[in-house]
Amino acid sequence: MARIVMKFGGTSVADMDRIRNVARHVKREVDAGHEVAVVVSAMSGKTNELVAWTRDASPMHDAREYDAVVASGEQVTSGLLAIALQHIGINARSWQGWQIPIRTDNAHGAARILEIDGSDLVRRFKEGQVAVIAGFQGLGPDNRIATLGRGGSDTSAVAIAAAVKADRCDIYTDVDGVYTTDPRIEPKARRMKKIAFEEMLEMASLGAKVLQVRSVELAMVHKVRTFVRSSFEDPDAPGMGDLLNPPGTLICDEEEIVEQEVVTGIAYAKDEAQISLRRLADRPGVSAAIFGPLAEAHINVDMIVQNISEDGSKTDMTFTVPSGDVDKALRVLDAQKDKIGFDAVQNESGLAKVSVIGIGMRSHAGVAASAFRALAEKGINIKAITTSEIKISILIDGAYAELAVRTLHSVYGLDKG
Ligand code: ADP
Ligand code: ASP
Ligand code: MG
Repeated sequence: MARIVMKFGGTSVADMDRIRNVARHVKREVDAGHEVAVVVSAMSGKTNELVAWTRDASPMHDAREYDAVVASGEQVTSGLLAIALQHIGINARSWQGWQIPIRTDNAHGAARILEIDGSDLVRRFKEGQVAVIAGFQGLGPDNRIATLGRGGSDTSAVAIAAAVKADRCDIYTDVDGVYTTDPRIEPKARRMKKIAFEEMLEMASLGAKVLQVRSVELAMVHKVRTFVRSSFEDPDAPGMGDLLNPPGTLICDEEEIVEQEVVTGIAYAKDEAQISLRRLADRPGVSAAIFGPLAEAHINVDMIVQNISEDGSKTDMTFTVPSGDVDKALRVLDAQKDKIGFDAVQNESGLAKVSVIGIGMRSHAGVAASAFRALAEKGINIKAITTSEIKISILIDGAYAELAVRTLHSVYGLDKG
C-alpha cells in the first residue's frame, strides 16, 4: 500500500466526461489499495473568465476580492469530482483550502503556502476516504481565501504530498510528460524519462508552464517523488498503475540521471517588454534609484543591461518587464525622474525570451556561441542576453519566438529520430 497525491489540471477536468475519466484514474489507485488524495484545478478556461470579470468590475480591484472570485473555479470541480467518485462507489469528500487548512501568507493573488495541517486528511485516509481538494487556494493570515498565482494547483498538490508524506505526487495534464521543449511548438520534441530538479526549475521559471515554479521548489526541498503524466490515456491501460515506474517524467535529483546531456531543454516566454532609460548619470546609487521603486510596485524586472559609459558621466540602462506591467513601470519611473535623472525613456513590447537549459553547460564551453550563430543564420536579431551556470536566455522580437525555439532545439540535437 502506498499514499499517492493525484493532481488534475484544467483540461483534464474540462467537462463532465473528462471528470468521469479522472474518477476512473482515481478508482484504479484506490482499487490497488492505495491511500489517495486528489487535487483539482478549475475547468479549463474558467480561471481566465473569472480573472476577466474582476478586471471588468474594476481594473484596480482589491486583491482579496480577486481571490474570492477566482478561487471559486476549483470549488466547483472538487465538488463535481467527489460526486462522480461517489457515483462509482468510492468514498470521497471534497475539501476547500480553508477546511484543511492550507495556511498561506498575505500576498493575495500570489500567496505562498506556509503550513498545511495534514492530520485530518491522514485520519480520513485511515477511514478509507478519498480527499478531493480544491487546488490553487488556501487561507491567509487575515482568515480570507488566498490564491497561489496562476498554475498554483501544481503547488497545492506537491505541498499536500509533502504534508501527508505521500510516496508519490502525480501531476496529470494534457501531455504525457515533460518534453525537451513545448510539444505544441515543436512536434519533434522528445519526452524525457527524467529531468533534474534544477533544470525543471529553470524550464518552469523561463516559461514552460507544465509545472508552476514553486511546485518544483517544494518537490526539491521536501524530496517529493513527482511525476508529470497524461490524464488522457486509458486509465486501465497496462502499466498505468505501476507503483515505482508509472508512465511519464520523473522530476528527480541530478544524481539519478545516468546520461546527462549538455543541453536538455528549450523554454520560451512571450509578452516580454523592454524599457530603456537614456543618458542616465553614471554614479553610485542610480540602479537602486531605478529598481527599488519598481520592486516596491511589485514589478518583476528580469534582464538588466547597463551600457558602458562613453564619457564617464552618462550611461544607458535597459531592462525587461512583463508586457502587462509596462504602463505601471513607466508611471513609477516618471514619478522618480528627478531622483534618477534620465534624459528619455523608450519602450518596446511584443518581445520574447528564448532560453537554453542544461546542467551539462557547467562543464562545456561554446554552448552560447552555437545559439548565437544559429539565430544569426535565421536572421533573428538578439536584443539582450543573460546567462547563468545552467542557462542562456536571449531576448528577441516576439514574431520569431517559434522559429527561434525550433532552431535551437535542432542545433543542440534535441529533435527526435
Ligand atoms: P494543466 O492545465 O494540466 O495544469 P498546463 O496548460 O498548465 O496544464 O501545462 C501543460 C502544458 O504545458 C502543455 O499542454 C504544453 O503545451 C505546455 N508545455 C510547455 N513547455 C512544455 C514542456 N517542456 N513539456 C511539456 N509541456 C510543456
Ligand atoms: N486554475 C488556476 C489557473 O488556471 C490554477 C491551476 O490550474 O493550476 O491558473
Ligand atoms: Mg498548469
